[in-house]
Amino acid sequence: MAEPTLETIKTDAIIIGAGPVGLFAVFELGLVDIKACVIDIQDKPGGQCAELYPEKPIYDIPAWPVISGEGLVEKLLEQIKPFAPHFQLAERVETLTRLKDGGFRITTDTGLAIEAKIVVIAAGGGSFESKKPPISGVDAYEGKSVFYLVRKIEAFRGKRIVIAGGGDSALDWTLNLAPVAKQLTLLHRRDHFRAAPDSVLKMKALAAEGKIDFLLGQLHALEGKDGMIERVVARREDNSTFAIEADALLPFFGLTMKLGPVANWGLKLADGLIAVDTEKFQSSEPGIFAIGDINTYPGKLKLILSGFHEAALMSQAAFQLCRPGERLRFQYTTSSTQLQQRLKVA
Ligand SMILES: Cc1cc2nc3c(=O)[nH]c(=O)nc-3n(C[C@H](O)[C@H](O)[C@H](O)COP(=O)(O)OP(=O)(O)OC[C@H]3O[C@@H](n4cnc5c(N)ncnc54)[C@H](O)[C@@H]3O)c2cc1C
Repeated sequence: MAEPTLETIKTDAIIIGAGPVGLFAVFELGLVDIKACVIDIQDKPGGQCAELYPEKPIYDIPAWPVISGEGLVEKLLEQIKPFAPHFQLAERVETLTRLKDGGFRITTDTGLAIEAKIVVIAAGGGSFESKKPPISGVDAYEGKSVFYLVRKIEAFRGKRIVIAGGGDSALDWTLNLAPVAKQLTLLHRRDHFRAAPDSVLKMKALAAEGKIDFLLGQLHALEGKDGMIERVVARREDNSTFAIEADALLPFFGLTMKLGPVANWGLKLADGLIAVDTEKFQSSEPGIFAIGDINTYPGKLKLILSGFHEAALMSQAAFQLCRPGERLRFQYTTSSTQLQQRLKVA
């Protein structure tokens, strides 16, 4: 694990996870004047709403008869703008330790350290990880010539690329990388896709124009040396095989969710989730709260709505820890000048 190498960021609250519940926690903490730093492995906020169903309609968000996953994230970002949270994206929180003064320190996979008085774990179902293709020895090529995400399109310029899969990621990257690739082959086991119909039509048009190759088959083996692939071997339905000369393979077989490092932080778990009380949504470790899909308690419903309620109650308890000795007055946003000033509307 990387040692902290960068400057340590100090804040009131660390929120692990920028899903809908982590985002709303910024709002509830902001109302009681607690500053938050939000960290997420993904390179954009939104959690499951952004990663798994950006265009699907949600019908059970109060006062929104219908809103898309993406639309909800946009509205949450607009709502928390007055509190100017610090976002640390594309970073995975690896360690969580208690400091001698009672606060906490987290470190990320890039070596960044953040210290705060309280920690709010809003890590949802855990971290999204790409499903690996079932080919032996694929690990030796990962990060060198086999990639599960595209960080920079330019890194693929002039390369012979094989993209495997039939979902939105496979089709989107086929369309986006075709103009820069020396040669691009889309490999899918059947001529039927789970991607947006428009992307499928565009891909087929490129194939008809001879700008890409679309081949039917499943990944079977990789040939190459020192982490660099030379050929991708694919298998047809009749079990015959064929090879495609390639410099890079991009398998897009979907995402799985794993609890990840959260499991190693010494918190009491129940069925792989963080056990909390229903007054403060605090974990077995005072000062560490867990809200949203990551927590469990009797009667828990894994709904965005439940996570919002948990964020509101958590923030009351968080205030007591961040401002010991100060009294928290219950106030309405409609009538409190203090809250309206914090919201920058008064
Ligand atoms: C297809 C689908 C449809 C749904 N429809 C509805 C619906 O209609 N209504 C409804 O209420 N709910 C719905 N849900 C459920 C809803 O999306 C979840 O309840 C909600 O996303 C939970 O929010 P969250 O913020 O707790 O977690 P998530 O949205 O899972 O976000 C957690 C975030 O934490 C990050 N994370 C995890 N571990 C770490 C780490 N170690 N370091 C840094 N970041 C980390 C993850 O990358 C992720 O971005 C649906 C879910 C799916 C899959």
